[in-house]
Amino acid sequence: MTRVRPEIEAMKGYTPGEQPGAGKFVKLNTNENPYPPPPGVSAAVAEAVGGLARYPDALATPFRLAAASVLNVEPEQILCGNGSDDILTILTRGFVGVGQSLRLPYPSYVLYKTLAQLQGAKSEEVAFADDWQPGPKFGQPHPDVRLAFLPNPNSPTGTVVSAAVVRELAATIGCPLVVDEAYADFAESNCLSLVSECENVFVSRTLSKSYALAGLRFGFLVAPVEIVRQLQKVKDSYNCDSLSIAAATAAILDQAWLRENVRKITASRGRLTCELRELGFSVVDSQANFVWCEHAAAPAASLYEQLKEQGVLVRYMKYSRWREGLRISVGTDEQLDVCLQLLATMV
Ligand SMILES: *Cc1c(COP(=O)(O)O)cnc(C)c1O
Repeated sequence: MTRVRPEIEAMKGYTPGEQPGAGKFVKLNTNENPYPPPPGVSAAVAEAVGGLARYPDALATPFRLAAASVLNVEPEQILCGNGSDDILTILTRGFVGVGQSLRLPYPSYVLYKTLAQLQGAKSEEVAFADDWQPGPKFGQPHPDVRLAFLPNPNSPTGTVVSAAVVRELAATIGCPLVVDEAYADFAESNCLSLVSECENVFVSRTLSKSYALAGLRFGFLVAPVEIVRQLQKVKDSYNCDSLSIAAATAAILDQAWLRENVRKITASRGRLTCELRELGFSVVDSQANFVWCEHAAAPAASLYEQLKEQGVLVRYMKYSRWREGLRISVGTDEQLDVCLQLLATMV
């Protein structure tokens, strides 16, 4: 019989959040931005259509120049990807060999483990402490551990590890420490300045969440110039297409739009947190565009099912070595009204 590699047969594969047909649900399950993207995106895409007969710029140069000026880094420090998931794949392929190990915190983004499995590598999960800090064990060197991912803010909790703590972990860990900042635009702090300060801290970002472009697929890494140069050999030659380069460039140049969007989302997040607590949920203080909540008297799986029946989709998550709960994305205030009013009838 025709067989794929045994590593592939043995793995379950990553299951993305449900994406039902447009308009069927109030969709609060995959941390998408509820608002339309920056207004300049449409015109940029329309203009790029004229150039579609040609291959795209292999390094997404217009985006690198724009992002470098916005973030105050060098364009050569930026590696662009087809979503930040592509960046995480490139990093795993570039640093972790067969039989070596990828370190991750637990509970966190489930995709990391899948990437290690695809690579024929091991993953080593280090549990967060009760205060959602990674703890000293995360920074202990081990000869097999060749790369570590730290989502910051973390998913599914929305909690943040300070730059000072990341700096300490990086000083001892003995391998690259990739801070996955998919949600950092919603947070009060980030680790971007550590990229120039510590040679083994890299930062990954995405336009999927804070720029409302999840459907576009564009993410990027900020890392030392020599690392970016090496990783360019790992990526697909044309991993970002011309339309996404044009759209992402227009989006990141509109920082006024970003600030206003983040203001709206963080205000709604505060309200969602308060009202869930009033309904008796325990809610972790989040610095992302979602909150993690649990209710002592109402099982999360049942709340998820009931909400779904009523047209509201949230993410039910069960971590076998931790807990189960609901991760609710911060939608518009109107969407949150619908969700909260339904929950009030269920708990
Ligand atoms: C959403 C998410 C990403 C991936 O985003 P892309 O859409 O692939 O850019 C990466 N890391 C974390 C923790 C995320 O939640």
